[in-house]
Order: sequence, then C-alpha cells, then structure tokens
Amino acid sequence: METDPDAGIVYLVGSGPGDPDLLTVKATRLLEEADVILHDKLPGPKIIDSLPEDRREDVGKRAGGERTPQSAINERLVELAREGKTVVRLKGGDSFVFGRGGEEAEYLAEHGIAFEVVPAVTSAIAAPAVAGIPVTHRDHASSVSFVTGHEDPTKEESSVDWEALAATGGTIVVLMGVGRLPDYTAALLEAGMAPETPVALIERGTWPGQRVATGTLETIVGVRDEEDISPPAVTVIGYVAATRETVAAFLENEYEDEREGAEGERE
Ligand code: SAH
Repeated sequence: METDPDAGIVYLVGSGPGDPDLLTVKATRLLEEADVILHDKLPGPKIIDSLPEDRREDVGKRAGGERTPQSAINERLVELAREGKTVVRLKGGDSFVFGRGGEEAEYLAEHGIAFEVVPAVTSAIAAPAVAGIPVTHRDHASSVSFVTGHEDPTKEESSVDWEALAATGGTIVVLMGVGRLPDYTAALLEAGMAPETPVALIERGTWPGQRVATGTLETIVGVRDEEDISPPAVTVIGYVAATRETVAAFLENEYEDEREGAEGERE
C-alpha cells in the first residue's frame, strides 16, 4: 500500500518514566507542535498536567472505568491522521517496551499512514536507576531480562518461562508485576532461585511520591502488603537489588523527598 499523501503523520512518542525533565528534547518539541496528543495515565501526573487541555485526548480509562480497547485507539490514530493532523501518541516509558507501540505501528502501516517512532527512557531501567539499582553490574549481573508479570505463571499457556529466567543468573525486571508478585516469586523459588535473593519494588519511579521497598524473594510479598505498594511499580529481582542498601545513604533523590512532604500533608 502507498502512503496516503493527504494524511498527516503519527509520532509514537515515549514520555520516559514520569519526570518531565526526562522527556527527550524531541518529545518535548513534538508535544509543542502536535495538533492532538493521545495519552493515557502512565506518563504520570506532572507530564499529563503540562499537556495543553485543548490539544489532548485521554484514551486511557473510559467513563465507567474500563480500558479503552486498543482497536479504538488504533482507529482514532488513523482517523486523526486522515484529517491531515500531526498526531502524537504519548506513552509512558518507551512505546516499544510493553507499550503496544508495535501494534500501533503495524496498524498504521496497514492503513497507509506515515509514522515515526520516538524512543525514550523506559521505566524498566530508569525506575531501578533512580532508586540506586543498576540493572547490570560487572560483578553481579551480566544479563538483564524484561518480563511482563501480567500473566498467570501457573497457567500452562503462560509465555514467560520463569524456570529459564531463574537459570540465567542475571537480573529480572518485572513490569506490570504488582498483583501477581506472589505467583512469580513462588515460580522462581520453585525453579531453584535462592530465597535470600534481593528484590526491590520501585513504585511511581520519578513521580512525586516515588517509593522503594526492598526484601528478598521470600519476604517481598509481605513487604508489598505492609507498604501497600501499588501499580505502577517495577520489580527488580537479583543481586543488583542489594546495591540500593550500599548506596542509599548518599543517594540524592528529589522524588522521594517530595513524598515526605506529601505524607506530612496526609497526616
Ligand atoms: N512502556 C512502559 C511500560 C508500560 S507497561 C515503559 O517503557 O516504561 C506498564 C508498567 O510499566 C507498569 O505496570 C509498571 O510496571 C511500569 N512502569 C511504568 N512507569 C513506571 C514508573 N514511573 N515507575 C514504576 N513503574 C513504572
């Protein structure tokens, strides 16, 4: 199929983990230039609040709370582009890391709409980083795997092979993995990973009110419950997670500082 010459263009833009200062220069420019910005909640409150009211559409949750189907978002992108608009599809983190950016790119290509992909800082790396956790380490982790925690590990058809991941000896970073934390930590223990393997949960990384909770493969579910950690959060499993303890005393962190203020207000 030929590119539709009268159509506009769609930019698939990652917003980074949430701090507006971590938007790329290109993302910032495109947000200024766009006729319309389609976004959900994941870019975080600071970035979303900075978007111009008259040029943005929230395609996250619909009224009533259910999620806008991906098919409706795909169709809206094509519809706007066919009106000749310059469209930014803004996604939390990087659009191509568990962001359905790939599906959107395929749909646009199928419909002859020109698009550009604007890569970004993924929360999978950035959320651990700001918590003082390097996802690789010369002494402790020579590989890192990015995994969805959304699937039920006890299901036969689960496409995540936790046993194989346990065998890598590298870092495992789980996205969308708050709810099923008990299932996949059990699967990793079952696969022979040491119960004392360090685990960290980074909630709302780089958002005001970021929180970090740490434990081990054996204790982390209790920690999650006690601290009431909720999405969005990234789970880091592996020896690198212990780096947090080593560096914490000297780790400047504006995000967690902001939370202390917020907490005071809540009391
Ligand atoms: N494309 C995104 C990931 C989308 S999947 C990216 O590259 O970051 C949604 C999951 O991303 C969440 O469930 C959570 O695990 C993670 N996530 C996104 N933003 C986050 C943030 N600021 N802090 C912690 N986790 C985040």
